[in-house]
Amino acid sequence: MNSLVPSTGTPLLIGGKLVPGGRGVFATIDPATEEVLGYAADASAEDLDAAVGAARAAFDDTGWSRDPAFRAHCLRQLRDTMRDHIEELRQITVAEVGAPVVLTSGPQLEGPVNDLSFAADLAESYSWETDLGTAVQMGSTSRRVLRREAVGVVGAITPWNFPHQINLAKLGPALAAGNTVVLKPAPDTPWCAAVLGALITEHTDIPAGVVNIVTSSDHGVGARLVEDPRVDMITFTGSTRTGRAVMASAAQTLKRTFLELGGKSAAVVLDDADIAAAAAYTAFSVAVHAGQGCALTTRMLVPRESYDAAVTAAAGTLRGLKAGDPTKPGTICGPLISAAQRERVERYLDIARAEGGTIVVGGGRPAGAERGYFVEPTLISGLPNTATVAQEEIFGPVLVVVPHDGDADAIRLANESPYGLSGSVWGTDPDRVERVVAGIRTGTLSVNGGLWYHADAPFGGYKQSGIGREMGVAGFEEYLETKLVASPA
Ligand code: NAD
Repeated sequence: MNSLVPSTGTPLLIGGKLVPGGRGVFATIDPATEEVLGYAADASAEDLDAAVGAARAAFDDTGWSRDPAFRAHCLRQLRDTMRDHIEELRQITVAEVGAPVVLTSGPQLEGPVNDLSFAADLAESYSWETDLGTAVQMGSTSRRVLRREAVGVVGAITPWNFPHQINLAKLGPALAAGNTVVLKPAPDTPWCAAVLGALITEHTDIPAGVVNIVTSSDHGVGARLVEDPRVDMITFTGSTRTGRAVMASAAQTLKRTFLELGGKSAAVVLDDADIAAAAAYTAFSVAVHAGQGCALTTRMLVPRESYDAAVTAAAGTLRGLKAGDPTKPGTICGPLISAAQRERVERYLDIARAEGGTIVVGGGRPAGAERGYFVEPTLISGLPNTATVAQEEIFGPVLVVVPHDGDADAIRLANESPYGLSGSVWGTDPDRVERVVAGIRTGTLSVNGGLWYHADAPFGGYKQSGIGREMGVAGFEEYLETKLVASPA
């Protein structure tokens, strides 16, 4: 099978040791075939407690947090061993996540592995100390030095849709900053995280306890990580609903929370844009990875007078993008992660119909696909922005087209959402485009197809899409505390 996955199942990583789970094992499933791929250790509450204890000891009792050069060395080792095992990792990612293989050359695998270089470089180049000079207070002169230090023990809780991207975008900067980590991945994709355990113990000098990985079928293990007073910070990516629970629970110990949550991003097409091209591009992007991307533009706002033309162009694109086998290089729309996720998407399609929407393309499972959690790329028209499917995150390959009445109305509609994660603007007049960009309240924006995803580009949400920024220098600084030291001058 795969040399990274033992036949008995992947182990936990706790205190530098690969260990079985206190609750036995749980299955990981190929969402394209519904077959059991194999097993992962199922962590218990006691395993989680041991992992937090190990992370605490590694932070408090070793020199890890004070040795950025060593941390950079370890992160490069992790990057290199992942590169050495890239084909095995690719196989796991396509099988366990249902990720179209084409995406593993980018954000599903190779992108985040390469981005470990950015974290390692930052550990070496970052200005850990800034001299603020002298200042006089009540007749006494002091020299002030501002220091940046690691926060401490970081609990990282991640979802299943882009597991390497999200696991590594937390692990890389958290470690570069000098923290120790307990990583709790989603139950649907345990292997993508668990295989890091063997790579870390066998191919890196990362000290015991600095990284701990607890796979579990029990969401309660994540909840316990948030509650634990020995944990200084939670970095969480997942749904807004769970993020809210994480924040409420973290309030009990007043630990720092960094939240990357859901989205319902708008593609805003202005009347001077190439409307057919913008609609085709947007439709294509919504089908990528079966729409399981938090930042996808799943609402397209188009000029009312061009509504039919936009629907026709988007429909043409989606009709040509069949949901299918993620191992095939030409596939961009694979399966949804689970039967539950497919039911959720189908429920939203029923709601769209019940609220008076028209399913222009797709609308359900592909004909003849007896196995796999597939849903056809789907286009919904005829609904206002207040409709349920225009307001709530579906997390499936579903695009909703909504008419607008000019630039100001388009801005209003784009912002008429509890979310503020991402979006796009399409138009030719730079002044109008700039006014719309300035008016939209989201963390990232693409203009005319520009790509914002990169190691140095901070990503995150306004409003209920989150708190904080991942990636870039901002994403590294999330994992730092500030200490001001003053001495007599
Ligand atoms: P989810 O919220 O159901 O689960 C995310 C993680 O939280 C999992 O590891 C889960 O086990 C854990 N968890 C569940 N309940 C918990 C609790 N009470 N306390 C602590 N941890 C708990 O999300 P999901 O279904 O795995 O992922 C899909 C969601 O993630 C979508 O809403 C998507 O928009 C969002 N997402 C956001 C980003 C971003 O960067 N903004 C990126 C990817 C995905």
